[in-house]
Order: sequence, then C-alpha cells, then structure tokens
Amino acid sequence: MLTGLLRAGVGGRQLIQGWQRGVSLSAARRCEATDGEEEEGRAKKEIDPAKDRTRVIPVEMSLKYLQSEAYQTAYGEDPVWKKYRRNFKGAFPPKKTRKMCIRAGVISTGNPCPICRDEYLVLDPINTNLLKQFISPHNNSILPTSITNLCRKKHRELEVSVHKARDIGLLTYDVPFRRYHYPDYYPKDTPTSTTTTTTTSSSSSSTLTPGS
Ligand SMILES: [Zn+2]
Repeated sequence: MLTGLLRAGVGGRQLIQGWQRGVSLSAARRCEATDGEEEEGRAKKEIDPAKDRTRVIPVEMSLKYLQSEAYQTAYGEDPVWKKYRRNFKGAFPPKKTRKMCIRAGVISTGNPCPICRDEYLVLDPINTNLLKQFISPHNNSILPTSITNLCRKKHRELEVSVHKARDIGLLTYDVPFRRYHYPDYYPKDTPTSTTTTTTTSSSSSSTLTPGS
C-alpha cells in the first residue's frame, strides 16, 4: 500500500515536472518568436534613408558645403535658423525647445531643428562660418534657443564648440574689464622713492581719468 502510494506520488511528480518542462519550453519558444519579430521590426524602422543620421560627416565636407551652390540655394545669405519655424500645440511656444531630435541614429520627430535637419551642418570649432551665425553681432554672446530654435542637445554642442573656438583663437571675445588701484602695487616703505611713486601714481591717475 505504502509502496503503491509512493510510486503514484513519484509518477505524479514526474508528470508535473514533465508538464512544467513542456510549459517552460513552449514559453521559451514563444519568447524567441517575439524577439525575432521585434528585431525584424527594428530592422524595418532603420531602413528609412531620409531620417538616417548614422553616417559621420567630416568637418572638411561641412566647410565645403557652406561655400557651395547648394547651400546658397537652400539658405542664401540668411543664417540657417532664420526660416525655421517650430510647430507646437496652442498659441504660445513652450519655453524650452525639444530635448533632442536624433535618437539612436534616427530622426525621431517630424520637424527637426535647423542643425539636425541638415546632415552637412557639423558643429565643430573649425567650422567658424556656421558658429558665427549663432553669435549675436551686438554683444558677441551665443543666441538663446528661443531665437535659434535649436534642440537642447545641439545647443549644448554649439556652446562647447564656440568656447573651444574662442580658446583656440578662431573666434574673438572681449576680456572682462578690470579696474586696478595702482598705488597698491608701488613700494611704500622706501622714503626716497615716495616722490617718484606719487608722481607716477598721479600721472597714471591723470591718464586714467579721461578713459573712466
Ligand atoms: Zn536638433
């Protein structure tokens, strides 16, 4: 009786284990099938050549493009952001622009920003003709995204390349004005040189007054 029960129990367990294995196998097969379908879907999405941005364009090509006839017909003398218009819901544009236009090498929006939409506009410290279009002629500062409508990622890249270009010396910038009190820098203890220092300080102050 006991042995019979044990046998039945063992048999039952084996049956359950077998059934579980079958279930797990079928589930695994189902998973494989869905993975395959997803991969196919991804492959289909990557085919679109107009939105593909995986190709790396060298800066030299961008420099040539900015001098070319194609660029002239596309933009003319205007900066690249001049004729771009954002599309947004409602009457007022959002304060911040889009976070990015290109995700995983593909344009993820219908209206990419002025830099992202043109593949041949490469932000680089050497590409000064492009960088100058994003610098205000009045105060030499980088124009905000509310004017240029760049996405935040490209705006950050623009800031980095402008700072690098200024560091190299390809773009100019004003050094902040420093006002010095010159008598602080002259020797004070020596009595013989006091007269000379006073004269020099007075002369320096007289020379400074018209400027200030
Ligand atoms: Zn963008």
